Amino acid sequence: MLAISAVVGVAVGLVLWAWVGWAVFSLGVIVQLVYHLRHFARLERWSNRALPTVDLEGEGAWDPIFSRLYRHEKELYEQIAKRDADLERFIAAGQALTDGVVAIDAHLRIVWCNTTAEGQLGISFPADQGLPIVDLVRQPPFVRFLMNRNFKQPLSMRSVRNGDLALSIHVIPYAHDHLLLQIKDVTQAERLERMRRDFVANVSHELRTPLTVVSGFVETLREIDMDVEQRQGYLDLVAEQSERMLLIVQDLLTLSSLEAAPPPPENERVDMASLVDKLRRDAEALSHGRHEIRVETEGSGDLRGAESELASAFGNLVSNAVRYTPAGGRITLIWRIREDGAEFAVEDTGIGIDPLHIPRLTERFYRVDRSRSRETGGTGLGLAIVKHALSRHQAVLDVTSKPGQGSRFAARFSKARLP
Ligand code: ADP
Repeated sequence: MLAISAVVGVAVGLVLWAWVGWAVFSLGVIVQLVYHLRHFARLERWSNRALPTVDLEGEGAWDPIFSRLYRHEKELYEQIAKRDADLERFIAAGQALTDGVVAIDAHLRIVWCNTTAEGQLGISFPADQGLPIVDLVRQPPFVRFLMNRNFKQPLSMRSVRNGDLALSIHVIPYAHDHLLLQIKDVTQAERLERMRRDFVANVSHELRTPLTVVSGFVETLREIDMDVEQRQGYLDLVAEQSERMLLIVQDLLTLSSLEAAPPPPENERVDMASLVDKLRRDAEALSHGRHEIRVETEGSGDLRGAESELASAFGNLVSNAVRYTPAGGRITLIWRIREDGAEFAVEDTGIGIDPLHIPRLTERFYRVDRSRSRETGGTGLGLAIVKHALSRHQAVLDVTSKPGQGSRFAARFSKARLP
């Protein structure tokens, strides 16, 4: 364009006057200038837009430059948007993890952490981003663990926010010198492990006592000469202790089969009128006429569930009432349809239980009075079986008691268990 106006200017200058040639040339330069200034202004306006969604159009030589620029900018924007979306997905995945996760750099400064880790370690993100994690979590074992950089074994520690939470911290090095802290909540696993240890210790203890008695008597019978009557006395004691061990093993098997069994059937119906009648006869047989046994039923109705499990649970409540009620006392079996479901309860006027013990009664081998439980043939597993069988029927055990006055053990079923 500039060349054209120069050629035209020279031609006009030669044919006409020189000044006319200069004027034509100057005009050409001005037109050029205006053309470029207009495109600069357009570029300036376009570059100020937040999003490069509006097309950038130019004329002449500017057109291919503008379209390249626009294409490039658009591609760049799309790449950034895609990367932002990827990053958001990664962060969402990190947040969705049930474990706590903290990413830290070579200087142990927090790069990122998820909400679970915030709760576990008492840090907050993004407020603490860039701060050394050892300045925020100051427990000496934690600080030593990160400083020593020996991550072969995970670190076990209590949560900073909630001392009841047991944490296991695994460290995974990544991206050369960065570290990823994976924090597992192992409270439940620890509790189960403790329960398992206690259970094995309890079973061993429970069986050791009768076994020691049996082996001691057998030894005596072997070594000492005695008359038939004495021998019979020893044999009776051996039989009593063997019976005791058998009862414990039977209850343990009942518990483990309850744990392993599939959920109780929904369509099996338990005829409660006849079950309550059978329980009454059992109570009378156990009581040998020492107690007054009553039955109260309000509204008839069946229950949906496994008859053998419910009969065993209710039977345990009945036998406890007989065993913990002195002669002359009263035992009442109640079956009642309530507004919110149904209730099977056993009331007694027996020795009662101090409220202190009530929350622990369903623990395996928990007894208020060990010797009384043993004397009456208890294994300490009856209420554990009751709780298990009831929870398999979505029912709960409600215990109310007054020492010296009596107790009430009620199994509460929801409406869903009524046909
Ligand atoms: P046990 O075989 O010792 O009876 P259970 O699990 O059936 O074991 O009961 C746990 C403890 O609860 C008993 O040792 C006893 O102290 C207490 N208990 C249960 N039922 C009664 C009751 N009806 N009256 C008083 N105490 C009871």
